[in-house]
Amino acid sequence: MAVKGYIEIDEDRCKGCGLCISFCPKNLIRFSEKFNSKGYHPAEFHDPQGECIACGFCYQMCPETAITVYRFQGVIENE
Ligand code: SF4
Ligand code: SF4
Repeated sequence: MAVKGYIEIDEDRCKGCGLCISFCPKNLIRFSEKFNSKGYHPAEFHDPQGECIACGFCYQMCPETAITVYRFQGVIENE
């Protein structure tokens, strides 16, 4: 049984500091190539394999409270 989840990033709150990128233990966050309304490249969640463990490190590091972490409910078997 493993905890899984995902995050949402409010890209217009993001100032592109990169802390969430540095602290994600699964390397699931990267800079977007587009610009947000403040002129920064915002952080973007990229998790094609469903590896997010909902640890919340990204959320805790973000100085702009731009990240919301969601944890899937229930049991994921065979993990
Ligand atoms: S919750 Fe954890 S694993 Fe998921 S994106 Fe944030 S730092 Fe990475
Ligand atoms: S920590 Fe927050 S402000 Fe910094 S890049 Fe990540 S989402 Fe943007």
